[in-house]
Amino acid sequence: MALIVQKFGGSSVGDAAKIKHVAKRVIETQRAGNQVVVVVSAMGDTTDELIDLAQSVSVDPYSAPREMDMLLTSGERISMALLAIAINAQGAQSRSFTGSQAGIMTSAKHGDARISEVTPVRIQEALDAGDIAIVAGFQGFNKDSKDITTLGRGGSDTTAVALAAALDADVCEIYSDVDGVYTADPRVIPAAHKLDAIDIESMLELAAAGAKILHIRAVEFARRHNVDLRVRSTFSTDPGTIVY
Ligand code: ADP
Ligand code: ASP
Ligand code: MG
Repeated sequence: MALIVQKFGGSSVGDAAKIKHVAKRVIETQRAGNQVVVVVSAMGDTTDELIDLAQSVSVDPYSAPREMDMLLTSGERISMALLAIAINAQGAQSRSFTGSQAGIMTSAKHGDARISEVTPVRIQEALDAGDIAIVAGFQGFNKDSKDITTLGRGGSDTTAVALAAALDADVCEIYSDVDGVYTADPRVIPAAHKLDAIDIESMLELAAAGAKILHIRAVEFARRHNVDLRVRSTFSTDPGTIVY
């Protein structure tokens, strides 16, 4: 039995129909004989909308960084619970966990915390019980301050890779709205073409140059911990891009 971590970004869980589609895909992965851990981002533009909302009550909301993290982490909680509800409605068992419940420990820096340790005890228990474990991306917990933190914009990719490393997963699949890693952003450069495979050093260069398909810390983490990464589309069966 393989252990697969699947991360679904904001565009993959943007509305109810998409969440039901993700639920179906995740259940299919489990029924194919795998243990599945799912990491989700906030729905669509939720994170941006929450920032706008904070800016409408303060000219400088980031002067309250702890509260900004409390606010922004709520986006991922909505997705994780809705996905668990959708999976359960489709006849499989699942349980959702916040970053702190999933054992994602971080530095104390609000808005840009780094993962320091992952102790996914409750995730392992859920898997052992035959459940699909769903984890809120982009967030963690600092042991000293006892506060919730966020990992920086796009940080759900890093949650997924860190969990894959801690659970010794067979593969970490990053699902997005494009069917893999392209030579350049396909929305900007129409002539860009999809790569079937890319080595991790080149992927690191692409991420460092600002290609947001993978969060740079996720790529760094994967390199350091030897995590097998695959970038795929939520909306097609294309095998995507293998990062080796
Ligand atoms: P998600 O919400 O799933 O995390 P992101 O918006 O963070 O998705 O990342 C996916 C987007 O990254 C794509 O829609 C694409 O426009 C952009 N992108 C930038 N560079 C690349 C690249 N080299 N290959 C593929 N996509 C890229
Ligand atoms: N929701 C967060 C963001 O918009 C994290 C993520 O999408 O990975 O940056
Ligand atoms: Mg992203």
